[in-house]
Amino acid sequence: MLYKRLKNLAKNLHNSLTHFVYPAHCLYCHNFLPPAAPVLCHSCASELKLLDPIEHCQKCFNFNLEANHPICHECLQRPSLFNKVGAAFNYEGPAAELVKQLKYYNQSYLAQGMAAFLVLQFDLLKWPLPDLIVPVPISKLHAIERGYNQSALLAVHMQKMLKVSIDNKALSHRSNTFSQSSLTLVQRKNLATKSFVLNKKANVTDKIILLIDDVMTSGLTLQRCAEALSAGGPKSIYGLTFCHTSP
Ligand SMILES: [Zn+2]
Ligand SMILES: [Zn+2]
Repeated sequence: MLYKRLKNLAKNLHNSLTHFVYPAHCLYCHNFLPPAAPVLCHSCASELKLLDPIEHCQKCFNFNLEANHPICHECLQRPSLFNKVGAAFNYEGPAAELVKQLKYYNQSYLAQGMAAFLVLQFDLLKWPLPDLIVPVPISKLHAIERGYNQSALLAVHMQKMLKVSIDNKALSHRSNTFSQSSLTLVQRKNLATKSFVLNKKANVTDKIILLIDDVMTSGLTLQRCAEALSAGGPKSIYGLTFCHTSP
């Protein structure tokens, strides 16, 4: 019942990606779009097919067709703080372009439609409704450059659709707590994406946490966030991203 309600809600909101009057050209193929057309042309929009959770490992979301073994061989041999991890799309084609536009080209309006796809994938994954949604934080350097945290935008829109709580400040970068003045800008950025701390005011104890990020590559960022969240004694941690890079 709940999933049916979520699915209907998400389908309505997902139209926000296909009913923008905004760009005159498809974001991905740059073909001209008629007035009141979507951000993606019909052909590119039809490429946005959600990944099937049945075909992916529940712990790393790499492709895994062994139906009797929902967790891949690699993941069986390494401990994970996540109950489950998932993603909506592979990092390719129009889905990757949406991430790039949201992240690097100041197109923050895309977040609502992208979050609707996350809600649809959340529905397919059949995970429990979270007590708290937590976005992966970005470094202060990125925040200054970009003006917003793209993962927090996705998390906020998801939270509104799912009608659950959110804590945008539960995690922060450990890089804020010690001097990195001797490091180069690139070194600081690399370090900042891999070190997180649970804020003292955050309450994650006994809660089901849904961690949200735009892209999962090695999974290291999600793991580091889960390590930080674990310090607060959550009941369980799930990780969901818009895109996933296949190995
Ligand atoms: Zn197109
Ligand atoms: Zn795996």
